[in-house]
Order: sequence, then C-alpha cells, then structure tokens
Amino acid sequence: MTHQLPVLPYAQTALGEVLSAHTLQFHHGKHHQTYVDNLNKLIPGTEYESLSLEAIVAKAPDGAVFNNAAQVWNHTFYFEALCAPGSSTSAPCACIAEQFGSFEAFKEAFNKSAIGLFGSGWTWLVKDGDGKLSLVNESNAGNPLRKGLKPILCVDVWEHAYYLDYQNRRAEYLNKIWDILNWTVINKRF
Ligand code: MN
Repeated sequence: MTHQLPVLPYAQTALGEVLSAHTLQFHHGKHHQTYVDNLNKLIPGTEYESLSLEAIVAKAPDGAVFNNAAQVWNHTFYFEALCAPGSSTSAPCACIAEQFGSFEAFKEAFNKSAIGLFGSGWTWLVKDGDGKLSLVNESNAGNPLRKGLKPILCVDVWEHAYYLDYQNRRAEYLNKIWDILNWTVINKRF
C-alpha cells in the first residue's frame, strides 16, 4: 500500500506564535513528507508492503523501514493533537492530575524529561496495560508501541521541530507547546 502524508487539521498559520507557518511548511511539508516518501520507496516487494503503518512500527526491526515508518506515525500523532493557541474545547483528562499529583506537576515532569533527552527524539505520555500513566523518552524514531505501551501524547524534540522559531531554546518551545495541545483529540486516546 502507498502511504500518504495526512493533511493538517488546521491552517499552517493556525498555531500562531507558538509554531509559525514557516515551521509547519518545513516540519510537515518537508520533513514529514520525506519520511512518507522514503517509506514508500523502501517497502515495495518486501513483507511490509501490505502491512498497516502501525503494524510496521510494531514489527519492523531497527533500521530504515522502522525509522521512516515510525517517523510517519509519530509526526501524524503529534500534528493531529495540536490546535490554535488556547482553543482546546476540552480540559485535560482528570486522570493525569490523579496520577501525577496535579496537572502542573505533570507538565513539570514532562518538560523535565523532554529537556533531558539527549539529541533527537520524542517525549511520550503512555498508558500501560494496568492503566498506569508514565513518561517515556525515545531517541530518534522510537515509539512506545514497540514496548506494548499505549501512546497518549507525544512532543517532538528533534531540533527541526522548533529551531526556526526558538533556535536552540528547547525549554521555551516546551513551555509554549501546552498552549496548543488539543485535549479533545488527546483525551480520546486514553
Ligand atoms: Mn519532527
């Protein structure tokens, strides 16, 4: 099957000053697109050709097929959970505050984890089989589906996610990202 770049569920200018249209032009239009294109070049004639994207992410061994498939999946999951600043019509699931002490404590722990991720990767809120929530850092294209964990929220901390707007200031990007999270989308993932 041929994988497609999902259309953003908002205009490129929608995320305002948190993530500029310039960032989205490159991050969605170039980086995300390139992972889709690479995956489509890699899988014809292989066992991955007929698998869903999620099945490839779960099963492919470390290597080019996994890296590109996971980067497609991760970026789709990231972009679909964003919205215009302050426009989320839902509040974060109360389960977050219940398990982390408060929503502020969760934010602090998430940002600390993301700031501490060395190099390129993703910080995830995940749920395990017992319903317990936790934070997981994954390097490069890493995806918690491979560990049997359910992804709830991810933030891209590759420099390409924030460099055009924040240069090297990852902490500032992380402080602002909370203004553009779409909790209607995220809450459905629990
Ligand atoms: Mn990215």
